[in-house]
Amino acid sequence: MTRRPEQPDVVIVGGGISGASAACRLAAGGLSVVLLEKQDAYRDLVRGEWLAPWGIREAQRLGVYDCFSAGGGWEIREWMTWDEAVTEDEVEAVDMTRFIPGIGGPLSFPHHSVCELMAEQAVASGARLVMDAAKIGVTAGPRPVVTYRTPEGAHELRPRIVLGATGRGNTVGRQIGVTMRNSMHHWGGGMMVEGLDSWPADVQAMGTEGDVMFMVFPQGYGRARLYLNFPTVNKHRYRGPGGVERFLAAFELDCLPDRGKAVTEAVPAGPLSVWPSVSSVPEGPPVVEGVVLIGDEAGNADTVLGTGLSCAMRDSRTVCDILLASGDWSPGAFTPYVEERNLRLERLDFGASIISRLHVEFGPAAVERRRRVRRLMAKNFAAQVTGLLNMVAPEDVPEFGFSEFFAERLFRETA
Ligand SMILES: Cc1cc2nc3c(=O)[nH]c(=O)nc-3n(C[C@H](O)[C@H](O)[C@H](O)COP(=O)(O)OP(=O)(O)OC[C@H]3O[C@@H](n4cnc5c(N)ncnc54)[C@H](O)[C@@H]3O)c2cc1C
Repeated sequence: MTRRPEQPDVVIVGGGISGASAACRLAAGGLSVVLLEKQDAYRDLVRGEWLAPWGIREAQRLGVYDCFSAGGGWEIREWMTWDEAVTEDEVEAVDMTRFIPGIGGPLSFPHHSVCELMAEQAVASGARLVMDAAKIGVTAGPRPVVTYRTPEGAHELRPRIVLGATGRGNTVGRQIGVTMRNSMHHWGGGMMVEGLDSWPADVQAMGTEGDVMFMVFPQGYGRARLYLNFPTVNKHRYRGPGGVERFLAAFELDCLPDRGKAVTEAVPAGPLSVWPSVSSVPEGPPVVEGVVLIGDEAGNADTVLGTGLSCAMRDSRTVCDILLASGDWSPGAFTPYVEERNLRLERLDFGASIISRLHVEFGPAAVERRRRVRRLMAKNFAAQVTGLLNMVAPEDVPEFGFSEFFAERLFRETA
């Protein structure tokens, strides 16, 4: 006798931050949920580990905030810009704890630990978690079909709806015909380190010198996630033998206190990963009959902005609210999600392009541009508007910050 395929309410493909958080919320809301994850155990994939205050608020609304705090979430309170275009007496700490009342500063955390805790919370709420799920096939329709393989064999599911949450690989999106318009400005690399004992534990830093833009996000207990952004022509610079050493040595910068010694002497505590820093904007709605895309799979702005996690939380919360509010799961029911997401991504993409042009372009003209923009910002508060974008939600940033007129004023070179 052929076994009838399992018919859960929801199948979520991808157990990362967006998929696992949605599984938590939907299972807690009483729906039957299957969560499919391709890894056999959660590992450091070098993803985002800095959650903005507006993303923290979304995580609280979604009911997954405890996974961040229990997974090692560390509040960062101050932001320093150490940069070759900033003189020593211009260096000022920005207090990051007061952007959203009652939230505090951004959280820095080990990504894979938080995903693991979310998956556990989903299971505790009644979801079925399948690790090591391979060769996933999704066919959209009023009763979508999901096929996959595990070491035990082939499986088929017939849910009411599928959430595609596989990240930038777009495994589900490609199968349902959602194509992306991709653009790339530069490359990036990231690595976890420990032994960073002399770095102030609640201070994050960013800046540009020579041909790297660096970021340091402490995670407490002498650990920090380091990122570098660099020109595409140098994309192989940190690959191959000695790559880790070259990556750490790149933090030996005149603009950093003590020439970056606290960082260059740190000890690698995870893989080094390098990637093209790509913005992907979907060419159609990330929703078809029976399938909804969330998180990076629904489109993402360049990682330089650090808002992908907050977007994942927002997507997850919005889509779960719709699924839990009524039995109407037709594509039209997701229109508010699609419209809000389009506007959000448009704004973030615009903001990321400004940040990239400002901080991830190199050479004398770029240094002069950064100096000029800093002078402009000191004189005219309105010029700082893009800086708000990674702290508060995109809809809370004044609209004028997203106009070509604004960009033209910001980047107008002096004669
Ligand atoms: C290097 C880097 C630095 C970043 N820094 C920041 C930052 O500081 N702050 C910030 O907010 N954002 C940052 N981001 C973006 C952020 O990491 C992403 O927006 C976020 O992880 C998206 O979550 P997701 O769940 O949609 O996708 P992912 O995190 O990519 O998770 C996808 C999950 O699906 C699984 N999967 C993939 N394919 C399949 C398949 N075929 N079948 C089953 N499972 C599958 C994967 O194993 C993974 O668990 C960064 C991204 C990168 C790459």
